[in-house]
Order: sequence, then C-alpha cells, then structure tokens
Amino acid sequence: MTNQKDRFWDRFLELAQKEFAPTTYEVFILDAKLIKVEQRVAYISLLKMKMNYWKEHIHEAILPLILAAGFEVYQDELNIEYVIEDRHSVAYDEFQEGSVSQLVEEPYPKEQVTSNVSSKYRFDNFIRGEGNRFAYAASLIISETPGTPYNPLFIWGGPGLGKTHLLNAIGNAAIARDPRTRVKYVTTEEFVNEFIANIRTGKMDELKERYRTLDYLLIDDVQSLAGKEGTQEEFFNTFDALLKHDKQIVLTSDRAPAQLDGLEERLVSRFSWGTPTHITPPDYETRFAIIQKKIENYHLNFSHETIEYLANQFNSNVREIEGALNSINLVATSKGTDTVTIDLIAEALRALKPSDIKMTVIPIETIKEETAKFYGVTVKEINSTKRQQSIALARQIAMYLTRELTDYSLPKIGKEFGGRDHSTVLHSYRKIEDMIKADANLKAEINTIITKLT
Ligand code: ADP
Ligand code: MG
Repeated sequence: MTNQKDRFWDRFLELAQKEFAPTTYEVFILDAKLIKVEQRVAYISLLKMKMNYWKEHIHEAILPLILAAGFEVYQDELNIEYVIEDRHSVAYDEFQEGSVSQLVEEPYPKEQVTSNVSSKYRFDNFIRGEGNRFAYAASLIISETPGTPYNPLFIWGGPGLGKTHLLNAIGNAAIARDPRTRVKYVTTEEFVNEFIANIRTGKMDELKERYRTLDYLLIDDVQSLAGKEGTQEEFFNTFDALLKHDKQIVLTSDRAPAQLDGLEERLVSRFSWGTPTHITPPDYETRFAIIQKKIENYHLNFSHETIEYLANQFNSNVREIEGALNSINLVATSKGTDTVTIDLIAEALRALKPSDIKMTVIPIETIKEETAKFYGVTVKEINSTKRQQSIALARQIAMYLTRELTDYSLPKIGKEFGGRDHSTVLHSYRKIEDMIKADANLKAEINTIITKLT
C-alpha cells in the first residue's frame, strides 16, 4: 500500500502535469523531490542551480496545487519549505565518471578575453512566452552555474526568434555575476575564418589556447559548419576540451542536431548531449508583450488596439516586428506626430513590404461573396445577426479572411459586418485561427477561398 506521503506527491504531480508546459514539468517539477511531510510542512528538495528559477517562476504556481493535494490526502493546509540539494543529474554524473576522473585542473592564464557579447541583448529585455520558456530557463541557469547538465546547451529554431539574443544574454549575465568570467561569443562563420587565418600564419597553438581557457564559449549559427571538414576537426577538439573541464558551451542553430547535414556524426552526437531546446514562434500574447516592451524605446503613443493590430500582423518572426516598429517610427516622424493609429501602421507596413498580400486591396464585398458562395449562404445572411450554425461559421470565416487579406482595422471590419463590435471580430478571428490549426479540412477550404480572392 502506498503511504500518505507518496499519494500526496503523486497527486501533486498529476495536478502539476496539467498546469505546466511539458518541458517545464520535466525539467523542473519532476526533478524536485519530496523529502517528508511533517507538521503541515512539505519539505521539497531542489537542485541549487534550479532554485532561483523555481522561486521566481514555479513557486507561486504550485502553491494552489500543494494546497489541493494536501487537503485531499492530509485534510490539512500544507506549507512548503525548500531544501537545497547538491547533486548532479544522472547523465551528467555518468559523463563525469566516464571521462574526467583522471583530469587534473590545469591552471590557465588570466589575461582578458574580448567577449564580443552585445550589451543590448539581456535577460531583462527578453520576453518569455510558451515558445521560448525552456530555452530561457536553461539559459538563465547556465548563466548562473556553468557546466551544468545542460552542457552543451543547444538552442535551435527559426530566424528572428531570439537565439542570438539568449546567447548574448548568457554572456552578459555571467560577466555581470563575475567580471573575471572568460566569455566568448562568436559566430560560426567567424570561428571558421579565425581558424583558417591562424593555420595560415602558424599561430594555431595560441588560438587553441585562447579557446580552451574559456569559461563560456557561445557559438552562434552552428549550421554553417556544414561541409567544412577541416574546421570541424578542430571544433570537435576544442569542444571536447572545454566539456571535459566543465566549461560551458552554448550553441544555436536554425535546425535540430539530427537535421544538420554535412556535419560529422560525432559532432552531431555531442550537440545532442545536453538538452537540445527548441524555440518556437511567439504566440499572440507573447507578441503583444514583445511589442509593448520594444515600444518603450520610442517616443510614440500606442493604444491597446494599435498594439493588438500590430501583434496580429506578424506571427513568426520578432525581427520583422522590430523592422515594423522602425518603419512606424519613420512614418510618424515624417508626419510630425507621436500618436500611432491603425492607419499609420498600415501605411508603415505597406512601405515595408510592398508585395505583401495583406496590402493588396481586396474589397470586403468580394470576400463576403466568395465565402458565402462557398458555404452556400447569402451575403445578406452573412451581414445579418442569424445564429444558425452554417451562417455563423461562414460569417466568422469571412471576418477572418478580411482580417487576413486586408489592412482594415477591427472596428472597421465590425462595422462592415452588420455593425459588430471590434471584440466580436477579434473573437471570430481567433476562433477560426484555432480551428484551422486543429482541422486540416477547414484549412483547405479556406485556402481555396483565398486562392479565388488573390
Ligand atoms: P535569431 O538569432 O533567432 O535569428 P535574434 O536573437 O537575432 O534571432 O532576434 C531577432 C530580434 O528580435 C532581436 O533584436 C531580438 O532582441 C528580438 N527578440 C527575439 N525574441 C525576443 C523576445 N522573446 N523578447 C525580446 N526580444 C526578442
Ligand atoms: Mg541569430
């Protein structure tokens, strides 16, 4: 029979699994251990290196879960005490035992290295969201404690999603913590060129020495190492030397380790050693928060609605959002205003991407007609308030398409669809957006209508 303590913890884990994203659950929750429950206190042990992140991001969220599980099992109100545990993960220990037991700590020269870290990319101006939560957490931990089980940390994902930002943030935080920390940020391209140049000038040993005495090696865009065999060899050696000395390596790439063609197998295998972490595009809320943060740098007034509008124009790339803000700033300056309206944004975006399909003028009437025809209803019904399911769906799709294919504002779309409120339009848009994700047929139907319209 399982005892009360186990039942309590199992119940807590069950609740937590529903509450947290899978990576957070695996990396943080499953890693915590319940030591005992005594006098209405649950003693939870945590790894030292995870403590800060836990206190900042997890503690609050688990309080209600601990309470709920506590009531169910102990019929009592439990509090939490944390106990710091100094242990490494199993994978880490195995690696340590297997390869480093014979190693003697080598003294290394303490002359300064040029870190090349850009001070504009920091943790405090990085916005967290579902898509980057784990990469952020791992980066933060590493910046506090190098040579953790996340070694090497491999961050991958599409362009403009914050890989370079995180890489630099790690460097900045590590240097802020201890200015003597030897950090080097380098793009793979630079790394390759440096090696080639040093081979030519016969200064290879110096270069090796410089790299092997780092505390943090931060290498950006490692996919461009593909096909460069000579450098891969040296890369591998540097890599191994650093790992064996518990120095931290962080790599970024536009694809997962397994997708890196033209790379030696042993390198790929090393890359997967820590935990490859995937950054996915920001969801709407994150985009909204990113825009909110970035507009602090401009002397511009954005209303909630204009931020909302902008957040809906981009769905995959933060760099593009930044480009848009620059363009908006230019347009506003040229007009001598600091008030950003939806019209102004639309104008700025048009300047930015003249060929964008959103900016070609498709009359709302045509969108309504094509959608109505496709779903066997009439335009009059679309404009009406009828709630019959087939009509309501066609109406929502037409609103969705109007938002996708034109630069009309939400209020304007609402007005065109029988005087509806802008929040109704947004609700319809999001609903269809969600439905498309789950329903390939609907997606195909909508694409058919789009093809007719564009
Ligand atoms: P990547 O290296 O993945 O292509 P970058 O790190 O260069 O992308 O990010 C592109 C731009 O977007 C940078 O200016 C960066 O500061 C910004 N950015 C990306 N993600 C975020 C985020 N989550 N919060 C704040 N800024 C971000
Ligand atoms: Mg980058």
